Amino acid sequence: MSKSKGYAAVAAKATLAPYSFERREMRENDVVIEIKYCGICHSDIHQARDEWSEYQEESIFPMVPGHEIAGVVSAVGSKVTKHKVGDKVGVGCFVDSCRTCAECKSGLEQYCSVRTVWTYNARDHEGSPTYGGYSDRIVVDENYVLRMPENLPLEACAPLLCAGITLYSPLRHWKAGPGKKVAIVGLGGLGHMGVKLAHALGTEVTVLSQSLKKQADGKRLGADHFYATSDPETFTKLANSFDLILNTVSAQMDWSQYMSLLRLDGTMVVVGLPEKHIPINAFALTANRRSLAGSQIGGIGETQEMLDFCSKHGIACDVEVVSIQKVNEAYERVLKSDVRYRFVIDMATL
Ligand code: NAP
Ligand code: ZN
Ligand code: ZN
Repeated sequence: MSKSKGYAAVAAKATLAPYSFERREMRENDVVIEIKYCGICHSDIHQARDEWSEYQEESIFPMVPGHEIAGVVSAVGSKVTKHKVGDKVGVGCFVDSCRTCAECKSGLEQYCSVRTVWTYNARDHEGSPTYGGYSDRIVVDENYVLRMPENLPLEACAPLLCAGITLYSPLRHWKAGPGKKVAIVGLGGLGHMGVKLAHALGTEVTVLSQSLKKQADGKRLGADHFYATSDPETFTKLANSFDLILNTVSAQMDWSQYMSLLRLDGTMVVVGLPEKHIPINAFALTANRRSLAGSQIGGIGETQEMLDFCSKHGIACDVEVVSIQKVNEAYERVLKSDVRYRFVIDMATL
């Protein structure tokens, strides 16, 4: 075991504070990463506050959150071939999976039918708790480590590892592209990446935000249209118009109302993960033969494809870099939708 330091929530809803813990010794297939930056995902807040207890195994505290990890390789095990010391690398939401089930074999490790080992708030194959990226270093099997774009700032690429892939995967799966109309609900960390990626894929993009406050930003990010959902006219004007809606909202909302915006055979993909159940009206589904679907991050292969796509198209996240001492303040600001558009912790401040 080797010592690591970071920030942790010692119990559900506790504010995050400095914390020392042990990471495993490097094994022959491991990469040791000196963490430079870690994004703050809304999922970190949900988990540190234990808001998903109904849907998951028991949360593990103390919890070191963080699954948008970008850094530099500082050591490699004797059998590592994919990464070398000095490489810019990343780690997303998971650090292992069974590697043998049909899902793993087809590059869908995030849906591993045995067990995806999440980057934090989980247990590895030996039963030890995993700790995330609000820390100085991490030890990860080389197969779960990504190559970061060389041509873009590392801090602006860290959130691609969750926010980026979570939108890229459904955009690809539901074939967003020229001739398709896509709406992104919620212009936060996930949503702003959805706009950039959908635009780069050549699709017509509409943002559905609570107000028009972020309209100029939305257009700059690549949106063709921008509407406020607080205006009831929005739902009349846009009824039956989208092929695909990507819903990133983390709070209670009327899903039936949003379903009514889908045209024939349209799909609303839920990626936001609110704490409470949301009821849905059957008629909102049967009309126009609509589908309600969900999607969870992306596999290792697809995440690398997304990083390479971002590198090629010069796409990174709009970030506000903060010191780790400001993490609790940053959480409060995320909850107020007061972030443009992702907080990233500068780990040099640890
Ligand atoms: P975020 O930065 O807080 O963005 C969420 C956005 O939703 C806000 O910026 C806001 O946009 C909108 N919103 C917030 N409260 C709302 C309300 N009461 N009614 C309507 N809209 C509201 O969060 P994020 O990091 O993008 O994450 C979003 C959700 O996705 C979280 O639940 C997170 O856990 C989940 N997530 C899921 C996956 C996955 O694999 N499925 C991956 C990562 C995160 P406007 O100001 O534009 O309205
Ligand atoms: Zn996330
Ligand atoms: Zn598996």
